[in-house]
Amino acid sequence: MGSQSYGSDANSASRNWGPNCYCGRATSIIKSWTNDNPGRRFIRCGVHGFVNWADEDKPYGWQKVSLLEARDEIRQLKDEMKVFKESVQATNEQGLTDMNSVLVNKDEQEKYQLENEVKACNEREKLLRQFIVLSWGSFILVIAMILAMGKK
Ligand SMILES: [Zn+2]
Repeated sequence: MGSQSYGSDANSASRNWGPNCYCGRATSIIKSWTNDNPGRRFIRCGVHGFVNWADEDKPYGWQKVSLLEARDEIRQLKDEMKVFKESVQATNEQGLTDMNSVLVNKDEQEKYQLENEVKACNEREKLLRQFIVLSWGSFILVIAMILAMGKK
């Protein structure tokens, strides 16, 4: 039971550990994708690199050919995905800068509108003051005229 649960743990791990290297370090099992050995697993040490093949048989025949074809197709797809991702990223960045310039313009517009409103407010206040002064002035003028007429 104990060994079984250990086995399932090892399977669920994302990394495949190989037997220890001759230097004593832990190794990992990696798939080779070279032209000579497509899909053939090998033991790799973090220090020494290639240690030994994990799969004894070399790939050959139609299996080797189809593995190489699959490898090239995957590489091509990866390249296409990369180009696609880059273009999406570029589009997003372009979109962001557009948004920013719109926001800046909106800010500028609001500022301009606010300034205009403040100016208009000041104008109205000035007019109102002038109107009050004028009406007071004319009122006093009328009173003075009435007083002058009464004196006669
Ligand atoms: Zn080593």
